[in-house]
Parts: sequence; structure tokens; C-alpha cells
Amino acid sequence: MIPAQFDYVAPTTVEDALAALAEHGDDAKIIAGGQSLLPVLRMRLNAPETVIDLGRIDTLRGVRDDGDAIVVGAMTTHHDVLTNDLVKEHAAIVHHAVTELADAQIRHRGTFGGALAHADPAGDMGAPALALGAEFVIAGSEGTRTVPASEFFVDLFETAIGEDEILTEVRIPKHTGWGASYEKFVRIKHQWPIVAVAATVRVEGGTIAEARVGLTNMGNTPLRATAVEEALVGAQATEDGVREAASKAADGTTPPADLNGDSDYRRHLATVLTRRAVLKAAGG
Ligand SMILES: Cc1cc2nc3c(=O)[nH]c(=O)nc-3n(C[C@H](O)[C@H](O)[C@H](O)COP(=O)(O)OP(=O)(O)OC[C@H]3O[C@@H](n4cnc5c(N)ncnc54)[C@H](O)[C@@H]3O)c2cc1C
Repeated sequence: MIPAQFDYVAPTTVEDALAALAEHGDDAKIIAGGQSLLPVLRMRLNAPETVIDLGRIDTLRGVRDDGDAIVVGAMTTHHDVLTNDLVKEHAAIVHHAVTELADAQIRHRGTFGGALAHADPAGDMGAPALALGAEFVIAGSEGTRTVPASEFFVDLFETAIGEDEILTEVRIPKHTGWGASYEKFVRIKHQWPIVAVAATVRVEGGTIAEARVGLTNMGNTPLRATAVEEALVGAQATEDGVREAASKAADGTTPPADLNGDSDYRRHLATVLTRRAVLKAAGG
């Protein structure tokens, strides 16, 4: 289907984009890579009067080193995240997850910030960002505010970004030297996960010293598997050492049920994928 008619503006600064948002209010919609928004417009599930394209704002692109964190611009494409050495070195879990995201074509258009702002519970970027304790920098007419990952994902397709605000960058605390793995279970390659698990661990002398585990599609938002994380600390980085901790992966989750699987199936998948992800991350 062809989208309903809309006006198009392409500002070159964040300030101009915010001014356009303020001018058009509820009738405006931001477009980043368009990989989620365009299908929505084509199905006429949304019909904004004005589309504000962030594609010409160069300051929103790229990855930079900022001391104890790396900072990923909201308009950095999935491809550029995938091939970035800072991401590989300091946020390996993001690198692993983006290798599993969609296909090369979509990774060249879709953006890191767009995926996070879209907040699809089956999206692959949320769980790694949550597990690493990322911070989201959001610009509005009153200035800039920073929201922790634990408060960013509010509900299904809903984040802390206000109607008149723009996500500008994401600060990811460095986890240098941590092992990482993203285990994604799909029926069809290049699709959204039925369930996925993002795990990153720091191993000392064969024992897990620290662990962070995020779950994809096990609720309305990405989730942190805190019971697993706590149980992993002090565990041997072996199949037996990890199994019991991984059995807690579905604790407190409310996974959806659909044609791909019911909630119990997803709970089971979460425990299996958590065991695999932690073991791979630990080098086992
Ligand atoms: C066939 C197909 C397969 C896919 N498979 C996967 C997959 O396996 N895993 C996965 O995670 N994703 C998948 N995607 C989605 C892909 O990752 C998209 O790139 C992503 O969800 C949206 O990013 P975008 O830059 O295209 O955002 P857009 O589509 O442009 O925008 C998405 C939403 O976010 C808002 N938005 C965008 N940027 C900002 C910003 N900076 N500030 C405020 N609001 C903003 C927009 O207004 C819109 O509501 C797939 C998409 C397609 C078409």
C-alpha cells in the first residue's frame, strides 16, 4: 500500500529538528532509517502530516570513545555499529547481537537509535543495551537529559522519549575484556527472535566474577535476568556450574504467546539459550 500523503522536512541540526517537532506537534513523526516506520506508514497504521528526517544531521552519526564509556550516535547504522572496533572491544555483546539483526540491506539503512526508540520487544538491540547499563541521551526544547536503560523501556513500543524529544546518543559503559554472546532463536533466518538472550561475563581463573544477562521477547520490554546474574557470580564457568543459574532465566518474566510458540515454550527457550549464551561468553 502507498502511505498517506505527508510533508517532508530534513533539518541539518538537532535544534532545527526540535523546532520542527515543536511546530508540528502530534502531527509529526521522526524518521531515522525508516526500516520500521515505513512499513507502518505503508500499512497506514500511522498517518503523520509531517515526517522529520534525521538523516542529514551528521552530529548524530558515529561511535566515539569517552573515557569509561563509548558513545553511539542515534543515527549510526547497524552496519557501522557492526564494523566498529570500539564496539567490538568495549561492548562485545552489542557487536554479537547486531550480527544477528536482520540482513545486510536492513543493517545499512536501520539505525541503532531508531531500533531502540522503536522499542519492539522482539528487537535485538534492547537486551544488550539494558544488560550493559546503557544511558540514553534525549534532547528536548528544555535541553538534554540522560535516562538509564532501566527507565528507558516503558512498555510495548513505548520509551521514555517524549513526543517533542529526540534520542541523540547512547552511552555504553565499557566492559572491556568481558566475554559475550547473543543467542537468538528464530524459525526463519534474518527475522525477529522468538526469544533471544544477551550474556556478557567476566571470568577470573575459571570462575564467573561478574555477569550481565538481558532477555529479548520475554515481556513487553527487554528484561534483565537478575536472578541469573546473581546466581552466576562465583559459579564455575562450566556446563554444570552454569546450568542451575540458567534455570532461573524465566523468573519474573511474562513472555508473549503467538503462532511461534506459547509462553511456556518461551520460558523453556530462555533457560536453554541462557545456558548456551553464558557458556559461550565464558569461553566454555
Ligand atoms: C524485514 C525486516 C527485518 C527486520 N529484522 C529485525 C531483526 O531481526 N531484529 C531487529 O532488532 N530489528 C529488525 N528489523 C528492524 C530494524 O532493526 C530497524 O532498523 C529498526 O527497528 C528501526 O530503526 P530505523 O532507524 O529504521 O528507525 P525508523 O523506522 O526510522 O523509526 C522507528 C521508530 O523510532 C522513532 N525514532 C527513530 N529514531 C529516533 C530518534 N533518534 N529519536 C526519537 N525517535 C526516533 C521513529 O519516529 C519511529 O517511531 C527488521 C526490519 C525489517 C524491515
